[in-house]
Amino acid sequence: MHTLDTLGFDPYFAAQLELILEHSPGLAPARVVADGRDLLQLAGCAAGFGELSGRLRGELRPMQRPTTGDWVAVADGPDRAIIHHVLDRKTLLRRRAAGSDAAVQVVAANVDVFFVVTSADRDFSPRRLERYLTAVWDGGARPCIVLNKVDVITDVAPLLRAAEAVAPAVPVQAVSAQTGTGMDALQTHLSVGTTFGFVGSSGVGKSSLINRLLGQEIQTTKELRASGKGRHTTTRRELVVLPGEGILVDTPGMREFGMVADDGGLGTAFPEIVRFAEGCRYRDCRHESEPGCAVRAAVAAGELPAERLDSYVRLRRELDSADVRRDPVLGANTKRRWKSIHKQMRAFAKAERKRER
Ligand code: GDP
Ligand code: ZN
Repeated sequence: MHTLDTLGFDPYFAAQLELILEHSPGLAPARVVADGRDLLQLAGCAAGFGELSGRLRGELRPMQRPTTGDWVAVADGPDRAIIHHVLDRKTLLRRRAAGSDAAVQVVAANVDVFFVVTSADRDFSPRRLERYLTAVWDGGARPCIVLNKVDVITDVAPLLRAAEAVAPAVPVQAVSAQTGTGMDALQTHLSVGTTFGFVGSSGVGKSSLINRLLGQEIQTTKELRASGKGRHTTTRRELVVLPGEGILVDTPGMREFGMVADDGGLGTAFPEIVRFAEGCRYRDCRHESEPGCAVRAAVAAGELPAERLDSYVRLRRELDSADVRRDPVLGANTKRRWKSIHKQMRAFAKAERKRER
C-alpha cells in the first residue's frame, strides 16, 4: 500500500479535496491506476476498484471521464468504491484517433514529466520531435528529450545539437537502455511524487528504458482480476510507484501515441496501406526501405498496386517537408499554438536560469 504522497497527491489536489469535504464529508482521495472501462482500478484507498456514481455517469462528458492518472474522491469500501468526484487535472495528454476528423482520446492525466524518446540509430527526426513536444506542452506537462541507443554511434554531439536546436529550453539526455549509460542523469528528473511517462515512436527503446527503471519489478504486465456482482474485468496496471523515484504511467494509448501522431490524415486516404502496415516490423515503418515491411511485401505479392504505394510515399514526403502550418495533425490553429509554446519555452528557460543561480 502506498501513501498518498508517494502516489503524487500534492497541494493542488489537497486543496480541491478540502472543498469537496466541506459538503461531502467522509469521501477519500484515490488515484486511478488503470482504466478498465466498467471498473477503474484504484490506489490509495481501501477498495481496489471503483465505479462512477450514477450522478457522475450522467454528468461527465467523455473527456472528463476519469482515466489513468486521475485523482478522484470516493466513498471507500472494502471491495468496491463509488467515485463521486473527479479532481481537476493538472495535465492531460490527448491523442487523435486514426483518421483526420476522428475523435480526440484521452491518453493519461496528471503526468508531470514526459520523456520524449528518440533514438540515435534510425529514428531521429527533428520534425517528429516537434510534434511530440507540441502534444506534451499542449497538455500542460514538461518534456525532457531522451536520445536513446547512444551505444550505436561514436559521436553523440551532432545529434544532441540537433535536438537542442528543435527546443532550446528543453533538457536533452543521451542514454543507452542497453549499457545503462546516462540512466543516472535521467533519474535526476524524477523524484518522489513526480508522475512521468514515455512517448516516442515504436522501436526507439521505450520498453527497454522502462524495464531498466523497473529493475526486477514486473508489475506493469501483471494482470489483476476483480469480480463481483457477476461482472469480471481484467486490467493491466498502468501506473506503478517506483520507490524513491516517482510514479510511472504507461498506458496503451501512450504506446500508440507516436503512430497516430505521425500518420495524420494519410491513413484515411490509404486504408488498405494502414491494414497491411499492421504487419510491418516497425510500427512507424515508412514502407520505403525498412526491413520487414509488410506493405512492400504486399506489392511484391501483387496484393497492392505499386502505384498506390508510390502515391502514398510521395504524399507522405510532401507532408513531411511541408511547413508545420500545413501539418494535418496540428491543424489550423498551429500558429496560435506555437506562439503559446514559445512563450512557455521562454518561461521555462527563465525558470531554469533562476534555478541555476
Ligand atoms: P519501444 O518500441 O520504444 O518500446 O522499443 P523497445 O524497447 O522494444 O526496443 C526496440 C529495439 O531496440 C529492441 O530490439 C531493443 O533491444 C533495442 N534497444 C533498446 N534500447 C537500446 C539501446 O540503448 N541500444 C541498442 N543498441 N539497442 C536498444
Ligand atoms: Zn512498412
